[in-house]
Amino acid sequence: MAKATPTKITSSGICNFCQGEFDKSKMTQHLKFCKQRAAIIKSENSTETQKTRLFHIVVEGRYLPVYWMHLEMPANSTLYELDSFLRAIWLECCDHLSEFRIGKVSYSMQPEDMMWALEDPTANTDAEDDEEDIDEDEEEPGITELSPAEIQSLPPFEVALRLSEILQQEFQANLADLSPTEFQTKFTDLIATRFGGSLPPETMAQLSKLSVFIQPLLIDLVNAEQDMDVEIGKELKVGQKIFHVYDFGSSTELALKVAAEREGVASKDDDAIEIMARNNPPEIRCRECGKPATKVASGYYNVEDGALCNACANTSLKEYEDMFLPIVNSPRVGVCGYTGDADMEEPDWDDEEEYEDEEDEEGE
Ligand SMILES: [Zn+2]
Ligand SMILES: [Zn+2]
Ligand SMILES: [Zn+2]
Repeated sequence: MAKATPTKITSSGICNFCQGEFDKSKMTQHLKFCKQRAAIIKSENSTETQKTRLFHIVVEGRYLPVYWMHLEMPANSTLYELDSFLRAIWLECCDHLSEFRIGKVSYSMQPEDMMWALEDPTANTDAEDDEEDIDEDEEEPGITELSPAEIQSLPPFEVALRLSEILQQEFQANLADLSPTEFQTKFTDLIATRFGGSLPPETMAQLSKLSVFIQPLLIDLVNAEQDMDVEIGKELKVGQKIFHVYDFGSSTELALKVAAEREGVASKDDDAIEIMARNNPPEIRCRECGKPATKVASGYYNVEDGALCNACANTSLKEYEDMFLPIVNSPRVGVCGYTGDADMEEPDWDDEEEYEDEEDEEGE
């Protein structure tokens, strides 16, 4: 994905308030000064409606920056809501996994639901409550029931979480609550017990030194993964960059930036994410004849390599090209099975205009 294609970066789009067309690089500035937007904000702010903190977020294809949107959303909406929005408008094909990355922390969807798929399915939460009792009665079941191969197939975070849980159960304490010395003692005691106390003192001393590294490493790794169900206002501030990945196989990556924030009235929609501006569909040309393409053969790294007009699609197909996707205004065009036809209707500017008008009337 890292291949930044030298497509002309000049990209224009439409301001959804005044319908004016502006260059991508000018849109943030325009939205600040757009008269129509200012008028709407003014009239909203003059009502009794409760004000809330709103974020102006610019999102673009990380490696396809000709696709971009300016969004406004309440700071109390969650990353999960933002993810759902991005899926609906740009990404969703077959329910792939996704994550946000903010600094070193990644936010995914209920990681715990996915990660224990390898575990015994009968080990449900009810059983967990009684775990301590069971452990006392039954023979110790070995430090982990996962095979080495299973453990290797887990992402680092999940390995760390698993190991933390084992240690916490052994130590009867939260890893983060232990002082480095306490951790050191408990860790070496644990190993000594497991080896029947038969390790030479030098080995114990080395283990003790090594264990100092284990505690912070585990805590960092476990904290590096969070649930998406967090308010964006708690995680983001103006100027901050974040990344989003949809589908870890044929990924579509997005880069987001908080451009501004203000106090104002949130959009009336339930999800309350408003599209303030969006790129015009970039021209994708038929690879054979250069006319505007109408479809794209799935499976290419660059959409241009699979793009075809109807005529050429009848005559110049490669043998292995059997699945076609529509050309859509999304950084996921031509990828996997993406058709742009998700739950949310692909906003087409005519519809948006009507919608805006309705809203204005209601607002009056
Ligand atoms: Zn405008
Ligand atoms: Zn898919
Ligand atoms: Zn053609």
